[in-house]
Amino acid sequence: MNTTSSESLAAFERAHVWHPYASLANPPPVRFVKEAHGVNLVLQDGSTLVDAVSSWWCVAHGHCHPRIVDAMRRQAERLPHVMFGGLSHEPAAALAERLSRIAPPGLDRVFFADSGSISVEVAAKMAVQYQRALGFPRKGKLVALLGGYHGDTCCAMALSDPDGMHTLFRSIMPNHFFADPLDFSTLERVVDEHSDEIAGVICEPFFQAANAMRFYSPDYLRKMRALCDAKGLLMIFDEIAAGFHRTGPLWAHSRSGVAPDIMCVGKALTGGHVTLAATIASARVAEVVSSGTPGAFMHGPTYMANPIACAAALASLDLFEESDYASAVANMEEGLREGLEPCRDMPNVADVRVCGAVGIVEVKKALPRQEDIDRAITRHGVWLRPFSRYIYAMPPLVSDAQTVSRIAAAIRDLASCPAGPVPEGDFHE
Ligand SMILES: *Cc1c(COP(=O)(O)O)cnc(C)c1O
Repeated sequence: MNTTSSESLAAFERAHVWHPYASLANPPPVRFVKEAHGVNLVLQDGSTLVDAVSSWWCVAHGHCHPRIVDAMRRQAERLPHVMFGGLSHEPAAALAERLSRIAPPGLDRVFFADSGSISVEVAAKMAVQYQRALGFPRKGKLVALLGGYHGDTCCAMALSDPDGMHTLFRSIMPNHFFADPLDFSTLERVVDEHSDEIAGVICEPFFQAANAMRFYSPDYLRKMRALCDAKGLLMIFDEIAAGFHRTGPLWAHSRSGVAPDIMCVGKALTGGHVTLAATIASARVAEVVSSGTPGAFMHGPTYMANPIACAAALASLDLFEESDYASAVANMEEGLREGLEPCRDMPNVADVRVCGAVGIVEVKKALPRQEDIDRAITRHGVWLRPFSRYIYAMPPLVSDAQTVSRIAAAIRDLASCPAGPVPEGDFHE
């Protein structure tokens, strides 16, 4: 069966398989992962790396969690998939019930999507259909925040910070409006000037992850709620990165004391075991959308509410419920702060930001050279994936003090390296 040697397979991979934000003509090196358990990745040669990135922030309970794997296996043996048009199943119904219990008050109408980006597209479409049903067909745009990131599909990309990707894909991207999360008056102004064109406002509440890697005031969200209420706009919170305790509380926006009309969740929903996201709306949104033409919400992915993914999410939500992640994350915050603060005095470091299970070192000029990054990863046995001007850790929420301190040591080592060349296209991730 296994006639291709692993060397020739790796060579084929290198020449034929695209990686995220990577060139295929001049591919950056990749490490093959054989298996992963808890906080550790096991590489092909048997060496291990601590996954300080939680595999893009989704592996909350650790890799290959027996409870989640078992739930997926049992579901796979019964019903791996069935279309969701005209059919349903217990894992989807149970998951919707669980989500509506933990979602902010008033949000209990659930649309299952197959990735975070799709859940954002779905939220945007809901907002547009909502305004149309209310008799405002011109309200077809959203306001998003500078420094935000909402995904890589066209609508999600168009709602992300208008950086280089916007100019690349202008021909296929809709135009939206932007406001500054550090200055609320910019949001007031854009809403004032264009309120007849705006369906709603979308943001990553409190923590802007993949683009700006920064935190902003929960007070901004309170003012946003009041503004949206006054102007009849829907407020959409994208909790895909920040949700499920990443910054401490279950939802990052709970610091603000206000609830959105629509919320997107993804990433850690299945504990990072398989892709699944959800767009959770209020009854009012669902009722208004359903009252308009054509009387239905117009979206339906092939793999919508995949039963194995729903089973994984149910097991993951059990773990979120049983574990005291709020205190675990508070301990991680302390460890990250203690370990990363010394970076402040390093010549190439502009800022250090720590909140919850997020530790960010922002460099001044450019990241260290790739050789230095690779050396730090190997020397410390810690998988880091710096991007743009950020060397950061978002470790699994089950990381103990020793793991956190090892990750911080790797980051300190890396942050002390001199700046490498300034990249041409400064894209995220
Ligand atoms: C990762 C991310 C997305 C996109 O999710 P995908 O599953 O990668 O499509 C959307 N919003 C935020 C805030 C994210 O961090």
